[in-house]
Order: sequence, then C-alpha cells, then structure tokens
Amino acid sequence: MPATNKNKQNLTIALAGNPNSGKTTLFNRLTGSTQRIGNWPGVTVEKKEGRVRGRKEIELIDLPGVYSLSPYTLEEVVSRDFLVNEEPDAIINIVDASNIERNLYLTTQLLDIGIPVVVALNMMDIVNKRGDIIDVTKLQEKLGCPVVEISATKGFGISTLVGTAFEAAHFGATPHFVRDEKGSEIVHHDEVVPEHRHQETHFERQFSAPVEAAVDEIATIIKGDVPVEHLRWYAIKYFERDTKVLEASPLPADARTRIEAIITRAETKMNDVSTSIITGESYDFISGVVADTVTKKNSGMTISDKIDSIVTSRILGLPIFVLVMFLVYYVSVTTIGTIVTDFTNDTFVGTWIQEPIASWLGGTGMFAWLQSLIVDGIVGGVGAVIGFVPQMLILFLFLALLEDCGYMARIAFLMDRIFRRFGMSGKSFIPLLIGTGCGVPGIMATRTIEQDRDRRMTIMTTTFMPCGAKLPFIALIAGVAFGGAWWVAPSAYFLGIGSVIVSGIILKKTKLFSGDPAPFVMELPAYHFPVPRNVFYSVWERGSAFIKRATTFILLTSIAIWFLSSFGFEGGGFGMVDDLNNSVAANLGNLIAWIFSPLGFGNWKAAIASVLGLAAKEEIVSVMGVLTSISGEALDLVEEGAMSTLNPIMLLFGGGATTLAAAYSFLVFNLLCVPCFAAVSTMASEMKSAKWSWLTVGYQCGWAYAIAFIVYRLWLWIGLSMFSAWTVVALVVLAALLFLLFRPQPKNKEVSTSTPALSKG
Ligand code: GDP
Ligand code: MG
Repeated sequence: MPATNKNKQNLTIALAGNPNSGKTTLFNRLTGSTQRIGNWPGVTVEKKEGRVRGRKEIELIDLPGVYSLSPYTLEEVVSRDFLVNEEPDAIINIVDASNIERNLYLTTQLLDIGIPVVVALNMMDIVNKRGDIIDVTKLQEKLGCPVVEISATKGFGISTLVGTAFEAAHFGATPHFVRDEKGSEIVHHDEVVPEHRHQETHFERQFSAPVEAAVDEIATIIKGDVPVEHLRWYAIKYFERDTKVLEASPLPADARTRIEAIITRAETKMNDVSTSIITGESYDFISGVVADTVTKKNSGMTISDKIDSIVTSRILGLPIFVLVMFLVYYVSVTTIGTIVTDFTNDTFVGTWIQEPIASWLGGTGMFAWLQSLIVDGIVGGVGAVIGFVPQMLILFLFLALLEDCGYMARIAFLMDRIFRRFGMSGKSFIPLLIGTGCGVPGIMATRTIEQDRDRRMTIMTTTFMPCGAKLPFIALIAGVAFGGAWWVAPSAYFLGIGSVIVSGIILKKTKLFSGDPAPFVMELPAYHFPVPRNVFYSVWERGSAFIKRATTFILLTSIAIWFLSSFGFEGGGFGMVDDLNNSVAANLGNLIAWIFSPLGFGNWKAAIASVLGLAAKEEIVSVMGVLTSISGEALDLVEEGAMSTLNPIMLLFGGGATTLAAAYSFLVFNLLCVPCFAAVSTMASEMKSAKWSWLTVGYQCGWAYAIAFIVYRLWLWIGLSMFSAWTVVALVVLAALLFLLFRPQPKNKEVSTSTPALSKG
C-alpha cells in the first residue's frame, strides 16, 4: 500500500547511491553509527540499519552502493529487492554532485520505482570549491523530486535533508503517476492517493514518445498483476524483458504475447533492442538535465587531475604503487614497527609483566605447574601476540590514510588496466585491498563481481594477501630470523599480490574460469585530506578485532598448548615432562612434521604452529611464544645478553646454514596457505557449494606448498650450492607452473556469454 498508510511513528528511509558517493559517511553522521567508510565500491555489501539521531521514528537503511538497478551484481539485486519488496517510505538518493552525470543514472531508475525520492546532492563542498554551479530549483523540476545540497563530511545541509526526507516519507510523492499535460494519459490517476498529488510538478518525460507509449501500454496490461505503486517500474522492466522480474511475477500467456508484440513494435521502430533503448534514452535524458542545470567554471585540470596524471600514468603508476606499498610495510613492520614491538615484547611484556608475575608467583609458594601455566602459557602465548599490536596499528594507520585520501581507489583503477590484459577485472583487486586488513570482509567484497566464475576465482585468491593476523609472524621472521632485513616484510606483501596475479592468470586459462572480464566502472573521488574520524574508525575496527581475538581465542588455545606441551609420557608414566620433546604436543607434532620436511621446517614445533595457524594466524606466534617460554630457552637467552624473548624461535629452523631458507619458507607457506577458520567459513558461505569450497582449500594448500617448496629448494641450491634430488623436483614443479602460466589461452569451444555492459559512456 502507499506510504501514507504506514504508521507515522515508524518511517523507513532507504539510503541509495553509487559506490563512493558518501552513503556510509552520511549514514554514520545521521545514526551516530561507525560503519566502515571506504574509498572504493564494495565496502558496504549488505544493508545496514540504524535510527536517525534525534528522530528515532526514522529508521535508515544503508543499501549497498550500486550504479544501476539492473540485476547484474548481487549488490544490485539486494538493493532492488529491498526497494521493490520491502517498500521503504522514501528513498534518499545520495548523488556525488562532483560526478553528477554518472550518478543520475541510478536516480532515474529510482524515480521509476514509484517510492518518494529525495536527492541529496553530496560533496557540494567540492563542487563549490571548484566554482561549479548547480541550479537546484531547475534540477528539482526536471527530476520531479526534492533536491537538497549537502556535504556529508563537512556536515552542511544535513538537517534540511532529514526534514525533506521525513516529509516525503510521511506524505509520499510518486511523481511518475502524476503526469503533467505533456505526458500521455495518466495510467492510474485514480489509485493515486491525494497526498501523492502534492508534488504535481512539471518534470520531463524520461523516454521518447514511442517508448513512453509502449511502457504505458504495458502498464495497462499488467496493472492487475503487479503492485500498483511500482506499476511504471514493472512496465519498464517488462519492456526490457528483465528475466528476474519475469520469473518473479509470471504473467498469463496472452498478456506475455501482447507485451512481446508491443516491445517488438517499438524495437522495430527504434531499430534497437529494448534494453539499450532504455539505457540510451536514460543517458540522453540525463545529458539534457545536466546541460540545463550544471554550469562548470572551467574545464581545466584540477589539482586532483594533475596528481592523477602522474599517479595513474601508464609508466609511473605501477612503480609508484610498488614504492608506496614497500615503504608502508618497511616502515610499519621493520623500522618504527620494530622499535615499538621490541619495546612491547621485551620491556612491556617481558620486564614489566612476565618477570614481576613470575617472581611474585614464586613468592606465593603456589604450585609450580600453575606458575608455569600463568607465566609461560598465558603470558607467554597471549603476550607474544599482543606484542605485535603496535606494529599492526601503525600498518593499519598507513593503510587507512591511503584509503581515505583516495589513493587506493586509483590503484584499483590502475590494476584494472593490468588485470584486464590477463582477462581479469580490476574489481578483483578491491577485495585484495580490503583483505590486507582482514580476509573476511575482503571475501565479502567479491560480491561486486558480476560473473560467478570471476567471483569464485577472486574468493580463491584474495586471502593470499598478508592480513593483519599474518602480520605478527611476518614481523617475527623479518625481525628475529632476518635481523630486520629491509626486504622481508614488503616481500610478503608482493608475494601475496604476485600469487593472486599468477594464480589468476593460471586459473583463467583453465576451462573453469575462462571468459571475458566484468566491466569495471568506478568513480575516482577527488583527493582530499584524510578525515581523522574515518581514519580512526578504520584503524580501531581492524585493531580491536585483533585484540579481541588475542584475549579470547588465543588465550584459550595458549592454555591448551601449554597443557599439551607440559604433559606427556616420561619415565614410564604420564605427568608433567621435564623434556619438552616427550610432551603430548611433541608426539602429535611429530606425526605430521614429515609433511613439512621438504619445505625445510619438518620439526614438531613448526608443524604445530603451522597447523594451528589454520585456526587463526596469530596462533603461529602464540604457539612459538608458549613453546619457547616453556623450554626455558627464552629466559636463558634473555639473561645472557638481553636478546629478544622470541629469539629462540631461530632454533625452530635448524640453527644451521639452512636456517634462513627454512625460516623464509615457513613465512611463505603460512602466508599463502588456507586462511583462518573465519575466512574459510566465509568463503564456503559465499561459494554456496561444497565442491567449490573444497577446491578452494585444496588450491590454497597446494599453492602454498608448491611455492614454499620451490623457494626453499632454489634458495639452498643457488644460495648455498646444495643440490639434491629435491632440487630436481622443485625445478620440475617450477617448470610446470611456468607452463601453466605462459601457455596460450586454450580455445574454448563454448560460446562465452558476454555480460551486458553496466552502462554506456
Ligand atoms: P559510500 O561508498 O557511498 O558508502 O561512500 P563513503 O561514505 O565510504 O565515502 C567515500 C569517500 O568520499 C570517503 O573518502 C569520504 O570521506 C568521501 N566523502 C563523503 N562525503 C563527502 C563530502 O561531502 N565531501 C567530500 N569532500 N568528501 C566526501
Ligand atoms: Mg559505504
């Protein structure tokens, strides 16, 4: 039923707009919520709900950002289903006014739905700064809906917007059913409730006369079969032969025949297929509207354009990106990061926490085993992980700054050019960017990818990236094993990206994944100084999740590891063991250690760390913390020469000439292998198929194993002149990978179904 019948106490307003138009910023400002703000599409993949501060009767729904309501992507389907089936009382259509032409495409589609629309012209601060002028009154007339100028970040226009949206939601307005004299006969004038007429404006018809006539004719045929408020929208969808709508609301056979005749007639007349007639005319309409309402001050280059001409240039773009990411990882993990982490590990955890607790507990005369559990198990395990928090926060801070100022959006654009050459879309890159924080939202962000095969491929490869939880062991290996060598931490990042690209190329050449890449349309928002609030929330969100896991899951498993490695069979009976190598953990670890022998770390400690790393990647460092604490190696070394408490982990990798190769191979394996439980279950739920989930897990294990193996064996051979039968196997595996990578694209017999382009222009 129309909006007016809704309970006045409870109004639902949907927030719809293109990706990057500022929806989440506005949503957070209105609701006081702290949703993640991102500078690329796909950050908001599911709708979020909140109540407007000070206007609790208004419920606000933040829909995923979409460029259109054509059901090509999951997000478009989510948005469209919500709008058509859940019937919000009004839609706030947030429009990036600095990119108005592209943004209005969605606006025209929203207006067709028949729910009152209020256009929020966002980013007016940028428009004003550029000196451009938008004639709002004229725009309102042309679109037939209220238009409010706002800036979500600067905070102006917000209360006017809320007031206007409230009115629209309360009184309703379905302009398309209240045609002016220029339009043809009003289809449902009588059904339109009086309140709907208050907005009887002189908006222009969107489509040309033959199309409008066809749509109106279809509307008369279907009017009994579809909700009356959305009649025009349905009529247009039937005109476009929209399969989702045809499936959801099947019509009687004779109605379908009549509609088909109407469509064919229009198509013949216009000499084009119906979908492209609609798209084309929508853009013509928008061009007209923009020409009449927007005055650009100068078409010269803005500062943003000038920066882009360098940063996204064909020659310099990639080297600049590599340099930037190199610096980010080098500074946050190796230089500043090491200083703060050494402090937290040695002084904060070691001297300030572990030692006082140990001596205090020693004084209480408590059971020795309990003392050990607390000092070695809990403080050793959780402390080892917590020690990396500062490093991680610094990394997250850099990433948040790069995201918020707009640089990362350029990288997605830049990557699209490179990816496309290999049949992949730049859309596959966005999940990777998000995945450097945490793989779970990274995997969710694949929802922006249209084709299932590209989506699956991206899900399979996204978690190769070094997420926050992988950072501790990367930093540990870089700092402790390699003494802070400059290249180790950045190499993990590029190894991750490299694995994604190489896997992508290899997978694309198989039958399962071949096909044209999805179109990639993305607004590049103007560069701006990072907003402290956004940066803070982004760092906080990523960091707090990490700390939460360290104090719950890691705490529990640290205790478990302590028990497993403190008890075992020794001297003919079960009990606390003197020799760590007799513990239950050692026995379990030895069962699987052989698997890792070819990779150079076939000992039970490294094996247990790697396996537990599948539960949560922080486990790797936590296990090492517990094991080295228990063995007493840590304290001895610390007493000897104030070494880092974690230094004994070097012993895990043999301690001999091959130590570094083994340590790096350990890093490679754990970086690339199957991510944590949380990410795996997200992958499984996004894949919606047991077969694909297993294929993914298998691929990731295989890939990690193969690369670690090749790296280790070639390192031994080239670096240490150690040649063996294993070297030959490694060379064969390498050759096989290179073959898969460079073989020509196999001819595909089946016709590849091309996706309809999202939009023209
Ligand atoms: P969403 O994808 O639509 O949810 O957009 P976000 O809320 O994540 O915002 C995208 C980017 O635009 C962020 O970097 C915001 O800081 C920026 N932004 C949002 N609103 C404004 C605004 O009014 N003015 C300016 N200059 N930037 C804005
Ligand atoms: Mg968003």
